[in-house]
Amino acid sequence: PATRSIAVTNPATGEVLAQFDTQGPAEIETCIRTAQEAARQLRATGYATRAAWMRRAADLLEADREEVARAVVTEMGKTIVQARAEVTKSARTMRFYADHAEEFLADQPLAAPERVGAGQALTKYQPLGVVLAVMPWNYPIWQAMRFAAPALMAGNAGVLKHASNVPQSALYLDSLFTRGGFPPGSFSSLLIGSGAVASIIADPRIAAVTLTGSEGAGRSVGEHAGRAIKKTVLELGGSDPFLVMPGADLEKAAKTAVAARMNNNGQSCIAGKRFIVHTDVYDEFAALFARKIAALSVGDPLQETTDIGPLATLSGRDELAGQVDDAVTHGARVLAKAATPAEGTGWYYPPTLLENVGPDSRLFLEEAFGPVAVLYRAADEQEAVALANGTPFGLSSAVWTNDDDQARRIVDALEAGAVFVNGMSVSYPELPFGGVRDSGYGRELGAAGIREFCNLKTVWIG
Ligand code: NAP
Repeated sequence: PATRSIAVTNPATGEVLAQFDTQGPAEIETCIRTAQEAARQLRATGYATRAAWMRRAADLLEADREEVARAVVTEMGKTIVQARAEVTKSARTMRFYADHAEEFLADQPLAAPERVGAGQALTKYQPLGVVLAVMPWNYPIWQAMRFAAPALMAGNAGVLKHASNVPQSALYLDSLFTRGGFPPGSFSSLLIGSGAVASIIADPRIAAVTLTGSEGAGRSVGEHAGRAIKKTVLELGGSDPFLVMPGADLEKAAKTAVAARMNNNGQSCIAGKRFIVHTDVYDEFAALFARKIAALSVGDPLQETTDIGPLATLSGRDELAGQVDDAVTHGARVLAKAATPAEGTGWYYPPTLLENVGPDSRLFLEEAFGPVAVLYRAADEQEAVALANGTPFGLSSAVWTNDDDQARRIVDALEAGAVFVNGMSVSYPELPFGGVRDSGYGRELGAAGIREFCNLKTVWIG
């Protein structure tokens, strides 16, 4: 029987705004069957046709920007300014893949086919079929789009199981691509809980799975996909280091550090979370960083001037509060804390800067998914790198230095899917994105992203 467990709860007020029935086995069956039919049709269309549909869908998304951004704010609490930017970036990514899919997936002839005894040899990329996407709430449009745009341009179909707290975004995406011209079923959303995912992965009509979310969800999806021998991409959590070395522009580094940590109310996988600062510049950087964090304006995410809104879920706020309390119990010092709206008006947590967090604190190894920054003092470059690599994660990273040799050494030494030098980690459609270690495997975006859900077929012609 259907349950109304998928709800929109406004994180700024705690008010339930809408509820939806969870879809059952019959609806899941229809969805997969339609997706399989769409995948057959998409495989037979050319890039130019799919690109025209994709561009039309991008235009529709942009035309709907204000409405979509407001829906995102009311279901997960990011600021309206950032929600609009998310929509714009998603549309840009759709156009990026419309422009480049054919080039990224072009046949590659082998230069010297006689070496393999052939008259001609080449590789080609072909779509896999229907791909299941399990996505998180933190960028409800963007996370789904960075899968959907390349997948559809490659000729795959997508079935989205979005996070249970963002059904408005899920339903919007459900119709967007068919409105653009794609065949029905090319991309659809299922309103289901995570318990229904395992049997969908096992369905023989599902070719592959991509998951963006927590480590626990990644392990579970990876396990089920492994049993079914299905390709997976896992984009999981991170506790990215942000290194500051002597000679760096400290004012600029501190300003960027605030943006890196506080973007999306602190709920970004590639947020700088651990600020590892060389002892020679530690005190100066800490003072600049603390002043900027204390000055952040926390409040209604629909206000244009708000820097930080509420956390998306009550359980997420409780989890973060528990991590900070644990650190303080173990000797951490609070260097800065911004003011929040009065108690009882939403799931706010004050932007906070901590130092002196030791290995006995949970925050030392765990991801902090909210506006909490931790400072670490490093005696030298070697210790900074050791601290940076000292968690199980390896998503992205940043380093601030004016020494090119040092930048090169640190770029090579960091165990992460990306390093940004004198900047902060940002995702762009042009740049491959993904992690190592417990942050997952596989890549989204760039040329690498569109190739993940393709069959790289080798062709040998005698
Ligand atoms: P989450 O609880 O893992 O949820 C993500 C998605 O997985 C949701 O759709 C969720 O469904 C589903 N899910 C949860 N447990 C599952 C299971 N056992 N089997 C199948 N599906 C399952 O994560 P979140 O709290 O929404 O997102 C925060 C996490 O995502 C953070 O760790 C963050 O760093 C990470 N993240 C990573 C990236 C990246 O690119 N690497 C990007 C963004 C976020 P329900 O909502 O129905 O539970």
